[in-house]
Amino acid sequence: MDQISIFTATLGLAPPWRVTSACFTDHSNRLDIKIEYALETIACPRCGNKLSHSPAGTVQEIWYHRDFLSHATYLHARMPIMPCRCGAFPLERPWCREGSGFMPIPSLES
Ligand SMILES: [Zn+2]
Repeated sequence: MDQISIFTATLGLAPPWRVTSACFTDHSNRLDIKIEYALETIACPRCGNKLSHSPAGTVQEIWYHRDFLSHATYLHARMPIMPCRCGAFPLERPWCREGSGFMPIPSLES
């Protein structure tokens, strides 16, 4: 199992989520993980509507875990903004399920 697969499994991610990179910085005990969402598979879980392949925009989210795999970990997620006509925002964030330990931090990007 390669490193990307291990992080994907440990974070509990499944398609369309995927880990795109993971970088350890040993001198600061820091781990940065980047994840993204495959846009071609989006359907609204509430109404089943297939959503446009072109998101209205993206938002960079950063989530922090103080001890994930023994490292202070920053999870960088580029979230597509995909509102549905039914009013739902169908993108769930599997890494922030109850008890995961990840907390959102304010982004420095806009
Ligand atoms: Zn919908």
